[in-house]
Amino acid sequence: MRAGLVDRAGRIIDIKVASTPPSPEAVLGGLVELLAEVLENSESPVEGIGIGAAGLVDVRAGVVRYAPNLSYRDVPIVDVVSRKFGVATTLDNDATCAGYAEFRIGSGQGAEDMIMVTLGTGIGGGFIFGGHLYRGSQGFAAEIGHMVIDPSGPRCGCGQVGCWERLASGTALGEMAREAAALPGGARILAAADGQLERVRGESVMRAADEGDPVAKNLIEELGRNVGVGLANLANILDPERFVVGGGLIRLGEALLAPARAELLEKIEGAGYRPEVEVVAAELGDDAGVIGAALMVSSAL
Ligand SMILES: [Zn+2]
Repeated sequence: MRAGLVDRAGRIIDIKVASTPPSPEAVLGGLVELLAEVLENSESPVEGIGIGAAGLVDVRAGVVRYAPNLSYRDVPIVDVVSRKFGVATTLDNDATCAGYAEFRIGSGQGAEDMIMVTLGTGIGGGFIFGGHLYRGSQGFAAEIGHMVIDPSGPRCGCGQVGCWERLASGTALGEMAREAAALPGGARILAAADGQLERVRGESVMRAADEGDPVAKNLIEELGRNVGVGLANLANILDPERFVVGGGLIRLGEALLAPARAELLEKIEGAGYRPEVEVVAAELGDDAGVIGAALMVSSAL
């Protein structure tokens, strides 16, 4: 969890980070504590609190309805926070917040139709169409990580199989890495995790690739290709001008984006008869969600 003091221009003045507690009740308690800490350090009165949370967020009610990778069910975040602090409070999906920040002050600037894709533990999304956020009828739009890419693929936290985030997220890279590390060719990936198979993560692949290991480089290319499959599906349905790709995996940079672009170009309908959809790296890093949530509440004031 991150809580930041942000000005109206989206500049972070102060930021505090805490690990996410396991139960929804503890998360709410921890969130209130973290907010109190940030508010205490503010030199001027805070005008509003914008919150981003993973999963299906009922924006109007201010409730997280469902988060597949966490145990959240119907958590009334806005009610609790606005009562406690007595200021305007908004809640939105975390990737939508990140997308809004990139659109306003990051690498989405100048695009009227952009899709934010956050590649982390799962895959999150945010839609900007015609220069405005698109949230769907309930606020549940852009759950792009649960687009089914492979109906015979691995089981997902949401209960389905073969979701995009099971094949193209940080978790997916970790699994691919453990499979590779168990084989003779994966020795350098295994070495990057101190020789312990159960400690192999996505980061082990990144480290081995940095040292020039061809097996690690292949895995990153495969992951990038899987990212591109989802981008092509989204492009065919929504015709965006630009994809802004963020989340922890974007540290891989062009090693990930180049194969994703190649796959997008291969899979998109009528590639030779349309302008190329831009695929760019996000600019605001891990703080994008915090900045976007703050910009959202400030625009609602
Ligand atoms: Zn899923």
